[in-house]
Amino acid sequence: MNSYPSVNVKPKLPKRLTGLKRLALNLRWSWDADTAALWERMDAARWSGSEHNPIRLLRELTAERLEALAADDDFLAHYDRVLESLDAYLGSTDTWFRQNAGNLGSDEQRSIAYFSAEYGITECLPIYSGGLGVLSGDHLKAASDLGLPLVGVGLFYRQGYFRQRLDDRGNQSDEYVDARPADLPLTELRTPQGERLRVAVPFPGRMVQLRVWRAQVGRVPLLLLDANIRSNRPEDRTLTDRLYGGDSETRIAQELILGVGGYRALLSIGDAPRVFHMNEGHSSFLVLEHLARLVREEGYTFERAREEASGGLVFTTHTPVAAGHDHFHPDLTLGYVGHYADSLGISRSELLGLARRPPEHSETFCMTCLALRSARHANGVSRLHGAVSRAMWRGLWSDREQEDVPIGHITNGVHLETWLGAELKRLFAERFGRTWPRWVSGPDLPVRLGSIGDRTLWRVRSLSRQILCERVQARIEERRAVAAAGTRLDPEALTIGFARRFTAYKRATLVLSDPERFAALSSPDGRPVQLLFAGKAHPRDERGKALLAEVGRLAVEGPLAGRLVLLEGYDLELARYLVQGVDAWLNTPRPPLEASGTSGMKAAANGALNVSTFDGWWAEAWREHNEGPVPIGWVIGPQDAEVEAAETEDRRVEDSAALYDLLEREIVPMFYRRGEDAAPTEWLAMVRASMGQLIPFFNTGRMIRDYTERHYLPALAAGVPRRSG
Ligand SMILES: *Cc1c(COP(=O)(O)O)cnc(C)c1O
Repeated sequence: MNSYPSVNVKPKLPKRLTGLKRLALNLRWSWDADTAALWERMDAARWSGSEHNPIRLLRELTAERLEALAADDDFLAHYDRVLESLDAYLGSTDTWFRQNAGNLGSDEQRSIAYFSAEYGITECLPIYSGGLGVLSGDHLKAASDLGLPLVGVGLFYRQGYFRQRLDDRGNQSDEYVDARPADLPLTELRTPQGERLRVAVPFPGRMVQLRVWRAQVGRVPLLLLDANIRSNRPEDRTLTDRLYGGDSETRIAQELILGVGGYRALLSIGDAPRVFHMNEGHSSFLVLEHLARLVREEGYTFERAREEASGGLVFTTHTPVAAGHDHFHPDLTLGYVGHYADSLGISRSELLGLARRPPEHSETFCMTCLALRSARHANGVSRLHGAVSRAMWRGLWSDREQEDVPIGHITNGVHLETWLGAELKRLFAERFGRTWPRWVSGPDLPVRLGSIGDRTLWRVRSLSRQILCERVQARIEERRAVAAAGTRLDPEALTIGFARRFTAYKRATLVLSDPERFAALSSPDGRPVQLLFAGKAHPRDERGKALLAEVGRLAVEGPLAGRLVLLEGYDLELARYLVQGVDAWLNTPRPPLEASGTSGMKAAANGALNVSTFDGWWAEAWREHNEGPVPIGWVIGPQDAEVEAAETEDRRVEDSAALYDLLEREIVPMFYRRGEDAAPTEWLAMVRASMGQLIPFFNTGRMIRDYTERHYLPALAAGVPRRSG
C-alpha cells in the first residue's frame, strides 16, 4: 500500500486516542455497526448532525470532551475493540480471493481498476445520485470483504448531486452546497517526494490539471479526481463541481477526466492494472488512452492493440432506456478526443466508427457502443436486463443472432452489513453469535430463520417500524417532509414504502391513481395503512417533478391526507430507515424498463415484503428464488415482460387495478390477520420465505464472486502484462 501515502488530519487528539484518525479515514465504519456506535457514543447529536461524518465530529469535539473520553474505561475498551477489529480486517491474508484466484491473486498491486461516475458509500460523501452509485459503493465494500486487489476510480464532486428542497406542496427546488475536502474522510494523494500529485489531461487547446483524493473503503482505495485547482482556468476549475449537472460539453469534459484522468492517475502512482471495469459507459474514453499506450509503449499496430486490450476490458451496462446512454455530437467529440486518431494511427472517421451507433443513430459518438465494441466481457444487471440489452445492441453484431450477442448478465446485489438494520443484526448476534455475517448469505439461513419464533420476529419487525415512524415524525416536525397538518404516524399500522428516483417510467403515482379506493382500504374497523414516499427528480425532468408535486398534493389534501407522507432529501440515510422499517416495499416500473433495482433487495433483507411489477431483479426472484410452499411476495399485473417496451394507457390502468386488488384481497387482510401473541402468522411465514430465499442470492458477496469468476479472473489472465518502470 505504500503507493498511497497518506497525510495527517487536523484534530489534535489525546495520545491515547490517536487511532481515531485511522478509524475515521477508513470508511469501514459505514458498514461496521460497532465502529459507528463508537462515533455515536462520543457525541450522538454531533454524529447525526454531521451527516455521520467522523472528521467533522472529531473537529467539533472540545478538548475537554476528548480528555474525558480518554479517561473513560468503558469508552477505551470499545475504542480498543474496534481498532483491533479494523486491524484484523485489514491484516487478514486468507481472503476468498486469495483462495480462489490461484497465482493471479499473489500480486501486491491493485490489478483491477473499477471506474464509475458515482459512488454511494456514506451519506457524508455526497458523490452519488442513486442506484448506480449505491451499487458502485456496495461493489467496493464487497470487493474489500473478499480481498479483491481492486481500486476504484471516480470524480470528486464538490457540490455533489443537488440537495432537494420540497415546499409544502411537494414542489422541488435544488440547492447546491460546497463540500470542503478538509471536512471529509479523504486524503490527498502525494508523490513519493511528498508533493501533491497532479495529473494532466489534454483538453482542446490546453491541459487540465487534476488533484486526486483518496477515500479508503476497507482494503479498497477509491481515487477521486478533482479539477478545482488554481493552475486551471477558472472555467475548468468548476468542471467536476456537479454530478449530472451542466450541458453536453460539461458532460464530455467530465467523462474525459474520469476515463483518461483516472487511467493516468493510476499509472502515475505506479499501479498499472491489468483489468479495467467500466461500470456504465461514462468512463469508456479510457479505452482510447489504453490503446494509445499499447501502441506507444509496445509498438503494437492499432488492430493488435485492440485485440490485446479487449481481454482485459469489462463493461457493465445499466439502462434499458435508449436515451439514457450518453452520446455526443461528432464535432464535439473530435474536439476533445480527435488527437487519439493520430496516436492510434487511424483516421478521424475510423475513430468515430469505434463508437458509432447501429444505423438508425449512426452519427453520434455513443459511449456504450465504444465500450461494447472494445470489451470482451460485457453484462447487464439482471437476467431480464441481459436479454433486453442483447435486443437493444444487436445492431452492433449484424452477423449474429440476437441470442448470440455477447452480452451476458450478472445480477446486482446489496451489501448486507451496510443495509441490515441494527435490530436484526442484534437478533442474529444474540441468537447465533457474532459470526452472523459469515452464514447470513449462505444455505443455512432458512433453517436459522425457521428457529426464530413468530413472537420474536414480530417484535423485531414492530420495533423497526416504530423507529422508522419516530424518525419520520421528527422529519415532519422539522418540516423536512410534506404531510397534512396534524399527521401522526401509527407505529402499529401496515406501512408501505416507495422511494426511488422520480421519473415517468417508475410510475410513482400508480398506487395513488384512485385515492378514494386506497383510503377505503385503510379506514374501516381499525386497519390503517400508511404510505411513505421519497425520491428526487432530476432538475431537468419536468415529468418527474410533476409526479413529486402530485404526491405532495395528495399528502396534504383529499382522502389520503394524514396517511401519506412525502419525505424530502432521499439519501443513503433515509434509504436505510425506510428499507429497515417498512412492512411492504412498492415497486411499479413499466416493464422492462427497470434494469435491476436494488432497493427491493435491501427491503427484503430486512424482512419487508416486495410488491412489484414483473421487472428487473424481481422477475428473476419470482421465477428462480420462489420455490418454497410459501410465496416470497407479490407480483403486480402480468408475469411476463416484453423485451421491447410498450407504453400504453391500458397497461397502466390494468396494473393499477391489479395493485388495488392485491392490497384489498391479500396484503391488508393478511397483515391484520393475527394469531397467537397478536403476531400475523401467515405474514411472518412470507417474511421468512422472502428473507430465506432472497438474501443468499441478492447480495454483493455473490455478485462479486460472479464478477470474479466470469470476468475478472479470465481478464486478469488475458490482460496486458505490466511493464516495469
Ligand atoms: C438503493 C438506493 C437506490 C436504488 O434503488 P432502486 O431500487 O434502484 O430505485 C437509489 N437511491 C438510494 C439512496 C438508495 O439507497
